[in-house]
Amino acid sequence: MTLFTTNTKVIPIEIPVSNILKSINFYIIERNNSLFLIDAGVNHDTYWDAFVLALQEHGYQLNDLDAILLTHHHPDHVGLVYRIAALLNIPVYIHPYGLPKLKGDHEYLYMSYMFFGDLFNKLNCGDFGQAEAKRVYNNRLNQRETAIDWNIQELNRQTVFDFDVIHIPGHAPDQVAFYLEDLDIVFSGDLLIEHQAVSAFTEPTFHGKRMKALQQHRQSLEKIIQLNPKLALSGHGTVIKEPAILAKKRLDAIDKKAKRFLSMIEKGISTGSELVKQRHPVKYEKIFYTVIRDALSFLDYLEDTGAVEKEEVNGIWHYKASQT
Ligand SMILES: [Zn+2]
Repeated sequence: MTLFTTNTKVIPIEIPVSNILKSINFYIIERNNSLFLIDAGVNHDTYWDAFVLALQEHGYQLNDLDAILLTHHHPDHVGLVYRIAALLNIPVYIHPYGLPKLKGDHEYLYMSYMFFGDLFNKLNCGDFGQAEAKRVYNNRLNQRETAIDWNIQELNRQTVFDFDVIHIPGHAPDQVAFYLEDLDIVFSGDLLIEHQAVSAFTEPTFHGKRMKALQQHRQSLEKIIQLNPKLALSGHGTVIKEPAILAKKRLDAIDKKAKRFLSMIEKGISTGSELVKQRHPVKYEKIFYTVIRDALSFLDYLEDTGAVEKEEVNGIWHYKASQT
């Protein structure tokens, strides 16, 4: 669906994928005679070819591109920037929290490795957790692609061009939405996906403190409810026609999922690793980083709301339901 108004044209590029995401989406936007790219898919020929074809079909050339705006740093959102930045010196706008990983900053990567190593011990993940922390650290240290030579502009401002920038962390600490007031549409990254719930992922701050990812994600959903835009253009799946209604649904689902964690804790399952193994015996080993960080975001949430308390015994956190 191409969206036209007198001053704006939005050209979605939607690449179907066979996993639960259904599609990976990014957007070419012509507005007031400037050409923007919001997000940039995966760094793969399929995405590049679709991007070049979309430019051609609408009468543009790569050189016409004025700027790239990124909703967050995940690899399914920044992929083609590696190719575009090698050809064009245009500004790439991203929130500062996305930068150290994209740049492969060694100090940050080591801090993050220590942060997760310590956390996985406290969650009772044992040697397996340590090996996973090490594996992820080594992968990041050895990543060939870096954003070192991008013309990066940090998005710590209210507007960029005439897009309102709304910080919506939780899924990623650097996630932002880009809102066009006159059209009442928002490019919302992975805050909302029409066909599935989105996870909030625990991450360290620059100083190694733990962000409360689920609380952030909930606040970000509240921001979209407040904004109440007509359409949300998502990083995955179809266009979202009533974003505020979907956001309310997602908040309810978060409460239900939190209650499921709580009832497991009430039954005496007390550590992070046991909770995840009970819920997802296969995923625990297969996508450890995803499920353990998602679970921790719920444990932090339950603790903050006073539903559970934790006690550290021999370096391991034991959760129990609060006495009411
Ligand atoms: Zn995504």
